[in-house]
Amino acid sequence: MTGSHDEKSGKNVRMSRDAAVTANAVACVKQWRMAPKTPVACPYCGVPGVEIVDRSTRPIAEWYAFRCKACGLDDALAIAMPFHRPLL
Ligand SMILES: [Zn+2]
Repeated sequence: MTGSHDEKSGKNVRMSRDAAVTANAVACVKQWRMAPKTPVACPYCGVPGVEIVDRSTRPIAEWYAFRCKACGLDDALAIAMPFHRPLL
């Protein structure tokens, strides 16, 4: 119990706890889809260059994984696709 180092990257920042960060993340995805080659600012810390990976399971939902080296953000954003709502 003497080690003070965090394992690997240390912090594990999650945006889903914070509505404002989630809103930023949605804006990030829109920007990223329009201009994929332009660096996108991190929805959590605002540093440009956040990594976004599209893991969507269309047509059910859109999933975007976010990873930021600056603040340790490592989380995914889920956006339901309302116009393809499955009938239960
Ligand atoms: Zn960040």
